[in-house]
Amino acid sequence: MGGRDATMVLLDENGIRCDGRKVDETRRIMIRAGGLKNADGSAYIEFGDNKILVGVFGPRDVHPKHMSNTDTGILRVRYHMEPFSVGDRKNPAPSRREIEISKVIKEALEPAVMLENFPRTAVDVFIEVLQADGGTRCAALTAASVALADAGIPMRDMVAAVAAGKVADTIILDVNNEEDQAGQADMPIGYMPSLDKITLLQLDGVLTPEEYKKCVDVGVKGCKVVYELQKKALKDKYFGNGGD
Ligand code: UDP
Repeated sequence: MGGRDATMVLLDENGIRCDGRKVDETRRIMIRAGGLKNADGSAYIEFGDNKILVGVFGPRDVHPKHMSNTDTGILRVRYHMEPFSVGDRKNPAPSRREIEISKVIKEALEPAVMLENFPRTAVDVFIEVLQADGGTRCAALTAASVALADAGIPMRDMVAAVAAGKVADTIILDVNNEEDQAGQADMPIGYMPSLDKITLLQLDGVLTPEEYKKCVDVGVKGCKVVYELQKKALKDKYFGNGGD
């Protein structure tokens, strides 16, 4: 929420948003499972103008060894934005924002991955944001779940993610970059549809208790749409004509 552009019409009189979408509509989503031959599992996602590649490695030995856990496996996540992924060149060194997003994605995935099956090992998830346009953490979390499944790592469920938010006093699904900058609230949600459990919920902005509840409802509905596309990506690779 910042850099508010007072001239931008975020919602017109017909309820149409600045990029032509209805309030409850996601951007175009394309998910592909596989693609990286040197990774144990991988996925590529286009979520609107976001383009993100994820590689998964493991379960594998932990180096340094003292980081390993004799009772369970550990999950390590690195979210990284390419310098060319945004309009103003981004410094390639990890920013505080990238460190925070790596942490929230790791914590959002942990309830889904059956790490207890692989004591003393690590599963590494590398996320490369090639192009960013608002909502990269949700798109990355969605693709990371597909890449983990593609790696054959046992999971309780996949985590599907999308943000809900508020613009022009209206609750919307899937906040784009302009809406994030000029809108009133952005609430990224990660959700495991089969288990009906939320594993990521952040909120930037201010909502009334009623708006908060509506945002969660709208976000969870959106996650269910994303989940179908995650399953389709895996089915296309393993039972259809997609994949590598
Ligand atoms: N962004 C940018 N430069 C940066 C970091 C972010 O232009 O160094 C843009 C990018 O398009 C990103 C958006 O700001 O998607 C919103 O970033 P936020 O921190 O809200 O995370 P996201 O919505 O991507 O999960």
